[in-house]
Amino acid sequence: MRIFPKPRLVMSACLDLQPVRYNGEVVKDPFAIKLREYCQIISVCPEVSIGLGVPRDKVIIQKGVRLIQPTTGRDLTQLMLSFSREFLDGLDTVDGFLLKSKSPSCGVSNARIYKDAYGEEFYGRGKGLFATQVLERYKLLPVEDEGRLKNKELREHFLVRLFAIAELREFLSKAQDVKDLVEFHSRYKYLIMAHSQEKLKQMGKLVAEAKKNFKEAISRYRILFMDALKRRPTKGQHANTLLHIMGHLSSKLKKSEKEHFYSLVESYKTGQKDLCTLLEILKSWSYRFDEKYLTDHVYLEPYPIALNVIQQ
Ligand code: SF4
Repeated sequence: MRIFPKPRLVMSACLDLQPVRYNGEVVKDPFAIKLREYCQIISVCPEVSIGLGVPRDKVIIQKGVRLIQPTTGRDLTQLMLSFSREFLDGLDTVDGFLLKSKSPSCGVSNARIYKDAYGEEFYGRGKGLFATQVLERYKLLPVEDEGRLKNKELREHFLVRLFAIAELREFLSKAQDVKDLVEFHSRYKYLIMAHSQEKLKQMGKLVAEAKKNFKEAISRYRILFMDALKRRPTKGQHANTLLHIMGHLSSKLKKSEKEHFYSLVESYKTGQKDLCTLLEILKSWSYRFDEKYLTDHVYLEPYPIALNVIQQ
């Protein structure tokens, strides 16, 4: 049974069940609520933090990236920028952000933007002001809003990155020598392969040469690792990784078992089977044949399975 790290996740306070919304309502998002069981939550409400009370009059984003409160005519842009800077400066190392969708402060991609300061003429969709600061500063971390994570693929990718980066943080805090790095890297090899063959090659070379200057090697490894996981793998990349893992087991399997697995991989590529099914099969075979190298491997269980079954 894998022991998971506890990611440090910055969450919009309203997703953390705090009644901080402009109307005092609580947001009940099942995924955010479940995440609270598995993460160390650092919650923040940027609007309350800049002195807007609850309840409060709505704020909007005006084109040109201004944060305006139409009823009072207040321009809160500088206040929000200063707060964001101070808050992010004061943060300890974190592993990701889950922010509230559509908010003019927290929205990651779909906040309403207006042409005018009264919120009357719609201009388009974009980022909230606080979210913009987060995205600029944390380019290698998963930063999402709960609205985007209703999409299963985006949610899985968010979870994979969140838990991997949390484990990387824990690893870096105690890594002593090259042996530790080799062990860590070998547990992550297939996860990295699924995301980027090119990064896997670079990281393999780095690990092989880490003896020369261990400190520098792990600092470069950290960047490469987070960068590698940034792009969501395609079905083809996952299929290729599944077949690589299968390579460790195929000599122990019956012809019919192998053929069945290969047909499932084809079904996965066309969207008829999901990745979980194939990973579960590989995991069961790894236990059956006592393949320790595989049972310890993160790719087969990248985050707690309970987070996968949330109905959105
Ligand atoms: S979306 Fe952000 S600013 Fe708005 S209530 Fe939630 S935490 Fe506060």
